[in-house]
Amino acid sequence: MHQKIERLIKEGIQNLDEGFCLVDKDLNLSFWNKWLEDKTGISPGTVLGTPFIDLVRPGAKEYVTKRLQNAFRFGQKDHLSQSFNKYLIKIKTSKSKSFSVMQQKVFITPLLVEGKIDALAIVIQDVTIETERIQQLNINRKDLEKIIDERTKHLKTIMQSLELKVEERTEDLKKAKEVAEHASQAKSNFLTMMSHELRTPMNGVLGMAHLLKESTLDEDQQKYCDTILTSGNMLTQLLSDILDLSKAEAKMQKTDIKAFSFEELMVSSVDLFDGSAKSKGLDLSWTLDPKIEKTLLGDMTLLKRIISNLVGNAVKFTHDGKITITVQLIEDTLESQKTLFQITDTGIGVSKEQQKEIFEPFIQADSGSTRKYEGTGLGLAIVYELVVLLGGTIDISSEEGKGSCFTFTLTFEKPSTVAD
Ligand code: ADP
Repeated sequence: MHQKIERLIKEGIQNLDEGFCLVDKDLNLSFWNKWLEDKTGISPGTVLGTPFIDLVRPGAKEYVTKRLQNAFRFGQKDHLSQSFNKYLIKIKTSKSKSFSVMQQKVFITPLLVEGKIDALAIVIQDVTIETERIQQLNINRKDLEKIIDERTKHLKTIMQSLELKVEERTEDLKKAKEVAEHASQAKSNFLTMMSHELRTPMNGVLGMAHLLKESTLDEDQQKYCDTILTSGNMLTQLLSDILDLSKAEAKMQKTDIKAFSFEELMVSSVDLFDGSAKSKGLDLSWTLDPKIEKTLLGDMTLLKRIISNLVGNAVKFTHDGKITITVQLIEDTLESQKTLFQITDTGIGVSKEQQKEIFEPFIQADSGSTRKYEGTGLGLAIVYELVVLLGGTIDISSEEGKGSCFTFTLTFEKPSTVAD
């Protein structure tokens, strides 16, 4: 039975699909299977008893001898890894396009007899196809890397030229912006100067018209004189609006921050419309949040300008109902008070479309030739610039036919904190 198994094992080893040989202590071959005989064309009769190393490729002889000796000495299994186009025994092959010699993987296993290493089993596998595949993959990878490299370089060049263009455009835009700002500043300066210069002769015209009106005139002459005065006054108003707006736009408007009484501000900027409101049958009233300090720091002249402009508009564009002005405290700190102003009317209202541009100069709802309401379209533009100048924000909410509400917030410092 035992002998039968041994025979079967030998038969199996002879017919393995890989090379199998045995090397004795003198490193001579003692077994050479059929696979090796078929592949090398060397019969066991010729090769057995001869040094294994004679079959090894010249460049690897020294290295393989050392490995075999070490295997005998230390009893460790070994694996001779073969890099590309390397082989242990020269065996011709026609399997591959790249290799004419079979690529091989070699395993060395020490075999023990009574606890001592008696021989080495050497297994040789044909790895030509796998090696060729790996080699092809490497070639493909290198090709891909080359393509990616080229694309990256190309993209880099495009990016660099784009960056350059962006830089150039930014520079151009910067210059254009500077030119535009300069032109805008020059325009505002010109307007400021012109409106100021025009007001002086206008005062002369109006003064003389007043004197003329006092003199003896017939009825027609009185009418002509009145027209000169009305038109002259309108022109003076327009000039002063242009002057204010251009001053504010050119950031030439100075603020004069002083202690002021809130109550006095409301009285002086709202109560002057009592007469015109009453004559239209409108109810005009204002309320002041009692939590607001009696005295705060601010520019009373500019505040009066803002409030009276908004109240004037409310009276102008309301035909019945009421106008209410409220000031509420919305934030109170040790140093300052933030307030919310609301000017609400029950007037003609402003369309959604017009609300978007209402704070821009020369915008009027009825700007056609059949204008019903007097005005220049500059009032709200001035109000907007002044609120911004005082560090606040302004907004409108309105519904056509129902009324409008203009709101703005301003923060005022408390007098005591500044005195420190
Ligand atoms: P104007 O001198 O024409 O009053 P403004 O700049 O003060 O100029 O106002 C611009 C336009 O906004 C007005 O012509 C009017 O159409 C609209 N407007 C302003 N305030 C009101 C309001 N309270 N109710 C309705 N429309 C208003």
